[in-house]
Amino acid sequence: MGLFGRRPKTPPVARQWYITKRCLELIVASSRSSYPKEFGALLRVDEEEKSTITEVVLLPGTISGNSHAIFKLYMLPIDYSVVGTVHSHPSSIARPSEADLDLFGHFGRVHLIVGVSAMGQASWRAYDHEGRVLDVRVK
Ligand code: ZN
Repeated sequence: MGLFGRRPKTPPVARQWYITKRCLELIVASSRSSYPKEFGALLRVDEEEKSTITEVVLLPGTISGNSHAIFKLYMLPIDYSVVGTVHSHPSSIARPSEADLDLFGHFGRVHLIVGVSAMGQASWRAYDHEGRVLDVRVK
């Protein structure tokens, strides 16, 4: 668990996060195609523009499933371009569960949840490490 020990104790500086339209579309499409199971991946930022999420990274050993235990924390890379997680909620409600809040508190600074309905409608929200809603702009 040495990875977690490296987290700074001071609160992160407030910053504006962005996600590219292309990346968001991929996330929504993956969330829809995983339905009724969960889709889960890591979020990676651009090397130059470190506040812009440009890519999703599938974790080795991550499987889509019906539980929230899709992220194996010991498999998280020590890679500072990975800033958080994304996963879908087939319940269609894009609110973090207790297990999600626990995950957010252990890893990452920005987390997306995509709610997917049986009709294929998707809505998403972003949260910080304490489960507070974050404003992530699409660009
Ligand atoms: Zn969840």
